[in-house]
Amino acid sequence: MTKVFMTRPLPDSVQAAAAALFDLTVRPMTTPLTVEEMRAALSDYDGVVPTLGDMFTAEIFAAEPAWRCQILANFGVGYNHIDVDAAAASGLTVTNTPGAVTDATADTAMTLMLMSARRAGEGERMVRAGHWDGWHPTQLLGMHLGGKTVGIVGMGRIGQAIARRCHFGFGMNVAYHSRSAKTLDFPAEQKDSLLALAAAVDVLVIAVPGGDETHHLINSDVLAAMQGHAHLINIARGNVVEEAALISALASGQIGGAGLDVYEFEPAVPDALKAMENVVLLPHIGTAALEVREDMGMMTVNNLKAFFAGEAPPNKV
Ligand code: NAP
Repeated sequence: MTKVFMTRPLPDSVQAAAAALFDLTVRPMTTPLTVEEMRAALSDYDGVVPTLGDMFTAEIFAAEPAWRCQILANFGVGYNHIDVDAAAASGLTVTNTPGAVTDATADTAMTLMLMSARRAGEGERMVRAGHWDGWHPTQLLGMHLGGKTVGIVGMGRIGQAIARRCHFGFGMNVAYHSRSAKTLDFPAEQKDSLLALAAAVDVLVIAVPGGDETHHLINSDVLAAMQGHAHLINIARGNVVEEAALISALASGQIGGAGLDVYEFEPAVPDALKAMENVVLLPHIGTAALEVREDMGMMTVNNLKAFFAGEAPPNKV
């Protein structure tokens, strides 16, 4: 029977679906695989279900001329932790879970936008600390999102879902920067440069994939181009933003605030960020809802099922 290894526990329904098809082993830990565990996974199983933090680098694949494992069915749309070219060179197929994550991640971006612009984290900390002395007309005044301009960096599935929410839900203007022009069913202005986008918007939202190409895409130049009241929101990958430059920009008041779901050296979150009132910090909860994780898991199982039936997996990357 085909042996499949899940590197983390997934929802019960997903594990049951996989166990009905394969000889399934579920690693009980919630931490990323070590190098030794990655090698053992590639040696001992026909298929592996890795996820965020399982760093399948070129060196891992190159350690053996051939592996038993034929497919890495990644749990998640982002696969920048897997060197896909090196996997292919070693004969492995890689799949992901696009679409299942889109709406939940866009919702998380809206949560961060609202929390950052309307100072919700700061207010909650005030209440919990017992420092709230009652309503008054000039308390905790934030930025109203209606009528403002959002700039989307990476107008893909999630970027478009965020833009739709901003346009239809909040009456915001939408601008974006992407590698290619998009056909959209709502008004949106494409800016030819990231700096032009950064300078034009009240909220800049990052929705590009992680990886070498986008590493530190949001650097001190981009932050310097932003308006003093503008907010930066990152639901993509932590190292798309140069975290040290962001800390400087927040500390000096160069930008108005930030909302982060992801961090450059995740799960480490700099103390400087934790100490700031004008930043909202979430623990990478972009897709953290049971039905979303079930949908992602079922896509993973369907990719494995198709692959081992000799068919093209639906979500090969
Ligand atoms: P997608 O549909 O592939 O969209 C990515 C977009 O980024 C595309 O429009 C692409 O442009 C654009 N892009 C790529 N490289 C770029 C660059 N160098 N400069 C400007 N634009 C660039 O992917 P998605 O499904 O929306 O997911 C996006 C990312 O979100 C994932 O890769 C993942 O890392 C992250 N994510 C995070 C969470 C979370 O829990 N926080 C959850 C899900 C996903 P083209 O259209 O021209 O190719």
